Amino acid sequence: MPVNMISKLLEKAVLPGVDIAPPVKIGGSRRTGVLRNPNMEKLQKGYLFPEISIKHEEHLKKYPDAKVISLGIGDTTEPIPSIVASAMAEYALALSTREGYQGYGPEQGHKNLRKAIADKVYPDMGIKETEVFISDGAQCDIARLQMLFGPNVTIAVQDPTFPGYVDNGVIMGQTGKADSTGKYAGIEYMRCAPENAFFPDLSRVRRTDVIFFCSPNNPTGHAASRDQLRQLVDFARRNGSIVVFDSAYSSYVSPSSGAPASIYEIPGAREVAIEVSSFSKFAGFTGVRLGWAVVPDELLYSDGSPVSRDFDRVVSTCFNGASSIAQAGGLACLATEEGRDAVRRVVGVYRENARVLVDTFASMGKEVYGGADAPYVWVRFPGRRSWDVFAEILEKTHVITVPGSGFGPGGEGFIRVSAFNSPDRVVEACDRLKSFLA
Ligand code: PLP
Repeated sequence: MPVNMISKLLEKAVLPGVDIAPPVKIGGSRRTGVLRNPNMEKLQKGYLFPEISIKHEEHLKKYPDAKVISLGIGDTTEPIPSIVASAMAEYALALSTREGYQGYGPEQGHKNLRKAIADKVYPDMGIKETEVFISDGAQCDIARLQMLFGPNVTIAVQDPTFPGYVDNGVIMGQTGKADSTGKYAGIEYMRCAPENAFFPDLSRVRRTDVIFFCSPNNPTGHAASRDQLRQLVDFARRNGSIVVFDSAYSSYVSPSSGAPASIYEIPGAREVAIEVSSFSKFAGFTGVRLGWAVVPDELLYSDGSPVSRDFDRVVSTCFNGASSIAQAGGLACLATEEGRDAVRRVVGVYRENARVLVDTFASMGKEVYGGADAPYVWVRFPGRRSWDVFAEILEKTHVITVPGSGFGPGGEGFIRVSAFNSPDRVVEACDRLKSFLA
């Protein structure tokens, strides 16, 4: 079948990156006797990005000819380097031969990819290949980690932060209901704002069992400094907590910034930290789906048993391993200098977009953060509500951003602007934003 026909068959239902289910007719349908999981009722509205897609759809209905530019969802746009795509194609074709066919792989991932991640992503950090669990993406690992922890743990999150940690915690039953500000009872929200260098005063943070910490942070674009991460690791060690460190954007850390790309650069982290990471923003694998989690051998529960043993059990029980084709692609990103250079070049495109966005907002006198170590730019609109700013920008410029409040109450008054688009569209969006904000 020609490639373009395959693409058509797989075409997304509504908008890039998001499939929206049609509304369910409830009125006349027969009900089952199954009780709804009460935790699902606690979740606020829909997941942020489908909400934005709905607004995008409505905008297109209102302005059918509008050339909408999305600097919103944070989905990659640049093609996967051919050295990586060819490795996946070769692997897939070999599956059609008797000699090349392979079925289930190890649930924890192929040994050579686990080793490549240990050696190339964590050089000199003492990470062993057996501590690396290959997955179908960081989002899925976050859900599996929440399943591992269960309903009885307490959690802390940065505010604002990626919504997956909180929403999975809610579904798991770790929280009470949300209050009028959107904060769930039982969760410790660690405010991260320009006023505290995007790092909480830990002397005021309540002890929790688990601390989700994302650096470089989505949405603020702030990469925690070495000193900040030292404080975090010390805090977790003093309190007997586990840090889940999300390094999905580590490949965007600028070599000159000095910010650690991994929590394992901090002494003592092996005994308190799990790291989740992803090929999504590193290699354009948002649709291919590949990520990993590192669970060090030294990380123990209060009864002395290793966390990795239980995680292995969760992975083997509810996940049969990442696609072997995706893993072949992942290996091609890491195994050779050529592969590493190719993915670095694509990251470089988005990094340059981020610089253009920061310059644009700065030139208009806006308070702008992030962008230097992350593909996200965080812009403050004092005294305004994020959703209002989002709506006004969309209405006047046909540019999609993300309202900061979607990442937690601490994001109110900000918008997140993503660098994930082609350079010419980013420049075009900047021109439109300049004329709107001037
Ligand atoms: N973690 C963070 C901080 C993210 O921003 C995202 C996606 O945007 C994910 C995890 C999910 O990554 P993946 O595509 O690997 O599931």
